Amino acid sequence: MEFLVTEISSKPGTAYVRYDCECGCKPGAECARDSGEAGSDHCCCGRVHFAGADARAQLDSYLSGRAEDDAELGGYVVSETAVQAPWGDEIPVAYAVPNKPRAH
Ligand SMILES: [Zn+2]
Ligand SMILES: [Zn+2]
Repeated sequence: MEFLVTEISSKPGTAYVRYDCECGCKPGAECARDSGEAGSDHCCCGRVHFAGADARAQLDSYLSGRAEDDAELGGYVVSETAVQAPWGDEIPVAYAVPNKPRAH
């Protein structure tokens, strides 16, 4: 998945990390500079992404809390990447793609 980063014009210092989902949605996560927490978005098809500090750990704990709800998705493939923030730092991104995504 390819992530695009913009700075939210009404919130300087906050990045918006989004992608074009295969289902047609454009999920985006807000990530504030110097925040210790990742922002996240959960698409209707089951894809999830976290952007910001500790993105992978927060994604893992989010998914483990949803194991029952997400049973029909057939499990997830979790990946990690990083994007460049508008202010130059790297923002870690972790995302999960279900083996059997829901229909949009
Ligand atoms: Zn989707
Ligand atoms: Zn969708």
